[in-house]
Amino acid sequence: MKLILASGNRGKLREFREILQPLGVEIVSQAEAGFDLDVAETGDTFEENAFLKASAICAASGLPAVADDSGLCVDALDGAPGVLSARYGGGKAWTDQQKYEYLLGQMKGKTDRAARFVSCICCVFPGGDVLRSRGECPGRILTAPAGSEGFGYDPVFAPDGYEESFGQLGPAVKNRISHRAKALAAFRKELESYVDR
Ligand code: IMP
Repeated sequence: MKLILASGNRGKLREFREILQPLGVEIVSQAEAGFDLDVAETGDTFEENAFLKASAICAASGLPAVADDSGLCVDALDGAPGVLSARYGGGKAWTDQQKYEYLLGQMKGKTDRAARFVSCICCVFPGGDVLRSRGECPGRILTAPAGSEGFGYDPVFAPDGYEESFGQLGPAVKNRISHRAKALAAFRKELESYVDR
């Protein structure tokens, strides 16, 4: 099966491919498919934004489209950056490094470092069918960045059970335990029962 990934994020594209391709699902980026839409993420939840992105690309292409809306929710910051993770601090123009450094600044002096990554996946089919899944990865915000693997906030987030950041642990560990790995595992089950109906 071929799905268009409604995202321009190369980190997400790589992880979708690493996890779904061995299962026989071909992931084509929206740019490769010739659709360069920047869908406004106007929803209040990850679920709503994932649906907005997948349905826009499905409508434009006439093909099944899948989207991940994800982010980092930090307890001491009342769940921020949350759905605004990609636009935190100075917005989309900021680099990942500027965003995680801004986050470290917001966390200065905070003893509660608990946080979790959340990924919500939504797949929309041309006939209107919708599949959804969600995954979470609990952990904590480090006091300084470490490692250069992954993307986004990976250098400042250590998952539960590890001292190292996702930026240090790399894909072998991240693709097993991350929010996206969990959401994709649940999505795979949804997809299998959808195809077998
Ligand atoms: P969106 O889903 O396009 O709104 O963007 C999600 C944002 O959350 C990304 O740009 C990253 O900043 C952050 N994010 C989501 N998943 C991850 C991850 O696996 N590692 C690090 N940062 C992530």
